[in-house]
Amino acid sequence: MPSFPEAEALSAEIQNAEVRKAFCAIDRSLFVPDSQRHHVWADMPLPIEEGATISQPSLVARMTALLEPAPHLRVLEIGTGSGYQTAILAGLFADVHTVEISRLLASNAQARLRQLGIANAHCHVADGAKGWPEAAPYDRVIATVAFPSQPDALLYQLGDGGICIAPVGQPGGTQTIIRYRKHGTETESQRLLPVRFLSLR
Ligand code: SAH
Repeated sequence: MPSFPEAEALSAEIQNAEVRKAFCAIDRSLFVPDSQRHHVWADMPLPIEEGATISQPSLVARMTALLEPAPHLRVLEIGTGSGYQTAILAGLFADVHTVEISRLLASNAQARLRQLGIANAHCHVADGAKGWPEAAPYDRVIATVAFPSQPDALLYQLGDGGICIAPVGQPGGTQTIIRYRKHGTETESQRLLPVRFLSLR
């Protein structure tokens, strides 16, 4: 498996060795437009098509680690964008369902994932605010697009013992990454870090 030295530097603080390995195995340059290739490994979000962005790489690594991945678990991702986060999740989970509202972005992401030989990621074009009930329940859920308030539909589709990581906050402002853990009918939430993500369309 390849390992990109730039990715090793960006994920050096991640404790989970499996997450570091999966993160370092994916070439971020495959997921950005040609016009952005010169700073592909800068630790910042970069513009892709349709006014979307590919997330900041160190944050991708951090959010992935917060999911506490394991190879037998199934994950739902909201906001496929370039498919970069999807490709990393595919290396750590049994199965990834990813939902994108833009048909163009979803089809570009799907083509890239196929090109990389990733067969356990399933791309859907839909409004991710509603999750993807067709394949629920999920062991893990990650949103890479900001929800204005608690993502109830995603929490409903999360199985018992599951973890959901999502940026929550009003469009235009700073949001907070919240970690939700479901225990039976109870959901515990923990506010973790301030971030700025695109908001749900
Ligand atoms: N994880 C992506 C970055 C996502 S940027 C990556 O690694 O490249 C946020 C994405 O959420 C954008 O692609 C945007 O089109 C998508 N999005 C916005 N509103 C959405 C909605 N209602 N449902 C699903 N996706 C949405």
